[in-house]
Amino acid sequence: NTKWQQTAVAEAAVDQQSAQDDPVTKFKDLAIRNLVHPNIVNTITKQMRLDEMTEVQSRTINEALSGVDVIAQAKTGTGKTLGFLIPTIQRIIAEDPSLAQRPRSYKRARPDDIRAIIISPTRELAEQIAVEAQKLTQNTGVVVQTAVGGTQKRMMLMKTQREGCHLLIGTPGRLKDILSDPTSRIRAPRLNTLVMDEADRLLDQGFTEEIEEIKLHLPDPSEVERQTMMFSATVPREVVDLVRRTLKPGFHFAQCVNE
Ligand code: ADP
Ligand code: MG
Repeated sequence: NTKWQQTAVAEAAVDQQSAQDDPVTKFKDLAIRNLVHPNIVNTITKQMRLDEMTEVQSRTINEALSGVDVIAQAKTGTGKTLGFLIPTIQRIIAEDPSLAQRPRSYKRARPDDIRAIIISPTRELAEQIAVEAQKLTQNTGVVVQTAVGGTQKRMMLMKTQREGCHLLIGTPGRLKDILSDPTSRIRAPRLNTLVMDEADRLLDQGFTEEIEEIKLHLPDPSEVERQTMMFSATVPREVVDLVRRTLKPGFHFAQCVNE
C-alpha cells in the first residue's frame, strides 16, 4: 500500500516535477542568476569543489528558493543535506543582508534570534549537518549552533547564549527542552524556516510529540510566514500524515527514485 500513500502526497502537491522551466543544475549558476549569495556559492564551488547538483538537490533547491514548502524523497548518499542547507542559509542572508559578509571581529548573534531550526533524528547526523552548515557559512556572519542530547546541556546553553544563534540544528528532545526551558534565553520569535531531516526515521523513533511541541514554541505561521522542508529516504503513511498537517497547500514533492 505504499502506492496510494505516495499518490496521496503527489496529488496534494502542486507538481511532482519541477514547476520551473529552466532549473539550475550547476552550483555556480545559483550566483550567476542571483539566486544565492556569491559568498556561499564560492564556498561550494571553490572550497568544497562541487560543480553539478545531484538530482534531489536541483529538484529541491530551485523550488525551495522560490519559497514554497518542499518534501523530498531520495536515497541515503544523494546529497540531501545541501538540498536544505543552501535555501535555509540563503533565506537568513536575504532577510538580513548584513549577514552576507563575515564580520571583521567575532561572529555574533542574539540567542533569541533563531531564524531556522533543523531537526535530525540522531546526534551524529545533527553534528554532521552542523559541520556542513559551518563550512557553508564560513564567509558570512551567520551563526550556527547545535542542540543535541548527550552533550552537557548547561555547556551548550551557555555557548549558545554567549554567541547567539541564527541556525539551530539538533535532535528533537534537546530542541524541545531548550525552547521550553524557562531559564534559557534561547528563543525563535522570528523563525521562518523549519527543516525535518530523515523524516521517516524521526517518526519511526517516536518523535512525533517532540516535533509537535517544538512547533508550539515557534511563531504562529499567521504572524511569521514559515517555510517547511521535509527530507526522507522513504515516504510511509506516517510521513504522509506529517506532510498533510505540516506543509502549506501547494507544496512541492521532489520524488527522486532514479538515483
Ligand atoms: P544524504 O543526506 O542524502 O544521505 P549527504 O548530504 O550526506 O547525503 O551527502 C552525501 C555525500 O555526497 C557527502 O559526502 C557530500 O559532501 C557529497 N555531495 C553532496 N552534494 C554533492 C554534489 N553535488 N556533488 C558531489 N558530491 C556531493
Ligand atoms: Mg542526510
